[in-house]
Parts: sequence; structure tokens; C-alpha cells
Amino acid sequence: MDNVFTVGEVVPNSGNYRITHYPPHTGEEVLTLTKGSTFPRCVRCSHVSFMLIRLEFCYGVENSRLSVSV
Ligand SMILES: [Zn+2]
Repeated sequence: MDNVFTVGEVVPNSGNYRITHYPPHTGEEVLTLTKGSTFPRCVRCSHVSFMLIRLEFCYGVENSRLSVSV
């Protein structure tokens, strides 16, 4: 599947990503990530995948200062 990414990859498109943990230790999480940043690491498990579920269409403002905490 082309819409699944892993930790450390560069975010190809701004949008909402669903986080899947392995082994699962939390419920469904959705994270908004900005194009050009990297997919964050989970502090509790080492196998996390991110699936793009919704693109962000507001390309007018490039906000590179977005901070992500998981
Ligand atoms: Zn985790």
C-alpha cells in the first residue's frame, strides 16, 4: 500500500495520518503532519506505521514550526 509510512521517513503530503502501534498498546490515534517533516518515533514501541487517511488541502500557509509530540 502506498499510503503507509514508517518512522523517520519524510512526510510527503500534509494531512491526517492514522498511527498503528505494534504491539498495539493504545487506541486509534490520528496525527496531523506537515509536508517536509519526519514521522515521529513512539516512546513506547519501536514498530509504528502511519497511514495517510486525509490530505490537508490548505497549502497556502507553509508552517515549518509545527511541533509534534507523541
Ligand atoms: Zn507505540
